[in-house]
Amino acid sequence: ITDKLTDITRQFTGKNRITEKNIEDAVNEIKVALLDADVNLRVVRRFVNRTIKDATGEDVLRSVDPGQMFIKIVYDKMVDLLGDSRQDLELKGPDTVSVILLLGLQGAGKTTAAAKLAARLKKEGRNPMLAACDLVRPAAVEQLSVLGEQIGVEVYREETKNAVKVAKNALKLAKKKQYDTLIIDTAGRLQIDQDMMKEIVDVREAVNPDEALLVADAMTGQNAVEIAKAFDEEVTISGVILTKFDSDARGGAALSLKSITGKPIKFIGVGEKVEDLEPFYPDRIASRILGMGDVVSLVEKAQGVATQEEAEELQKKIISATFTLEDYLKQFQQMRKMGSVQSLVAMIPGMAGKIGDGDIDEKAIKREEAIILSMTLQERRNHRIIGPPRRKRIAAGSGTTVSEVSRLIKKFDKMRLTMKKIAKNKKLQNQLMTQM
Ligand code: GDP
Ligand code: MG
Repeated sequence: ITDKLTDITRQFTGKNRITEKNIEDAVNEIKVALLDADVNLRVVRRFVNRTIKDATGEDVLRSVDPGQMFIKIVYDKMVDLLGDSRQDLELKGPDTVSVILLLGLQGAGKTTAAAKLAARLKKEGRNPMLAACDLVRPAAVEQLSVLGEQIGVEVYREETKNAVKVAKNALKLAKKKQYDTLIIDTAGRLQIDQDMMKEIVDVREAVNPDEALLVADAMTGQNAVEIAKAFDEEVTISGVILTKFDSDARGGAALSLKSITGKPIKFIGVGEKVEDLEPFYPDRIASRILGMGDVVSLVEKAQGVATQEEAEELQKKIISATFTLEDYLKQFQQMRKMGSVQSLVAMIPGMAGKIGDGDIDEKAIKREEAIILSMTLQERRNHRIIGPPRRKRIAAGSGTTVSEVSRLIKKFDKMRLTMKKIAKNKKLQNQLMTQM
C-alpha cells in the first residue's frame, strides 16, 4: 500500500495545476490500494467520498499549490480514519490499583503485550504487577513468568484452572503490596468461542478493569476488525493493541478498526522484544502509510509560509512592476523557512525554469541576502539610488565586495525588466500564475 500511495503522492507533489479529473483518477487509485490492503469496503467508500468532496472544492483547485493541498487532504482523511489523536491509557492515580485486562485470540500477542506494557509503565514511573490468568495453554504461565523476570516485574501465579480466582487474588495482593497497576493476561482460543467469552466476562466482572484492551494481530487484516467487533459486543473493550504491525505491510486493520468499532488503537506492537511497543499516533501512522513523512511537513510549511493572499500580493507587485529588493529579500526569508533554495528560485519571477537543479549555490544566496540586509530601507525600496559611495558602504557592511553589490543590483534590474515584459504579456502572465 505504501509503495502505491507513494507513487500517487509523487505524481502530485509540486504539481501546479490539477483538474477534477486528475483528482478522480488519483482517488480511484487510492481506492484500489486501500482495497488491496484489505481495508473494509465501507470504510473505503466513506474515505473516497470525503476526499473527493473536499478535494474538488474551489479553494483547492485554485490554491497556491493544489497538488500539495490534495495530498494534505488525503492525509487528513487518513488521520481521521486512524482515530484523529493519540489515545492514552486511562488509569487511576498511584494511590490505588488500576487494572488492565488483556484479551484476544490465541497467538495474537497477549502475553507478549502484557510484558511490553508492564515494561513501559515501569519506565514511566508506575509500579506494575502481572497476573497469569491464561490457564488454558500449559506453557502460558511459565512464558509470562520468564518475561516478568526479564523486565523485573512481579508475576502473580497460582496452581489452579480458575482464572477468576487468580485474577481476584492477584488484585488483592496488588493492593496489599501497594502496586499501582495490575495487568492481567488471559487465555485466548483459536477462534471466537463461548467458553473463552464467558471466562473473560467473569474475570471482567471480578476485577472491574480500567482498561479492557483487545490484543489483535494486524497481519490478519479485516479479520482483526471482525474479531474486535465480536469481542466488543460480548465483553466491551476500551481500546486495541494492534500487534505485529512490523510485519503488516498493508495497514488494512489499522485503517478500518476505528471507524468500524469506534474503539481507539492505543498501542502498536512492532517486534518480538519487550521494548517493541509504541503508542499509536494516527498522524505518524498516516504518514507512514502514505510513505511521505517529509511530504506532509513540507505541505504544512508551504501552507504556513505562502498563503494565497501573499501569493496574490506578490503577483500584483510583479504585474505592476513595483517589486523591490525588500520583496526579494522577503522571498529569501520565506523560502528559507521551507528549507529549499530550489523552490525559492522557482518562485522568484522570471527565474522559474531558467535555472537547472545543479545551478543553485546556497552560499551565493546567503551573500545576496547579506547584501540586501546591509541596505537601508530606502535603498531596498528604491535600488536606483544606490550609487558608488553607497555600494562601498553596503559591501563593507555585508562583508562582500563592491563588485558583488553591483552584480546583485544589475541582476535585480534585469529581473524587473523581465517582470515588465510579463506585465505586458498576457500569455506569460498566465504561465506565471500557474507557477505560483
Ligand atoms: P498470545 O497467545 O496472545 O499470548 O500471544 P503471544 O504473546 O504468545 O505471542 C505469539 C507470537 O507472536 C510470539 O511468537 C510473539 O513473539 C509474537 N509477537 C507478539 N507481538 C508481536 C509483535 O508486535 N511483532 C512481532 N513481529 N511478533 C510479535
Ligand atoms: Mg498468551
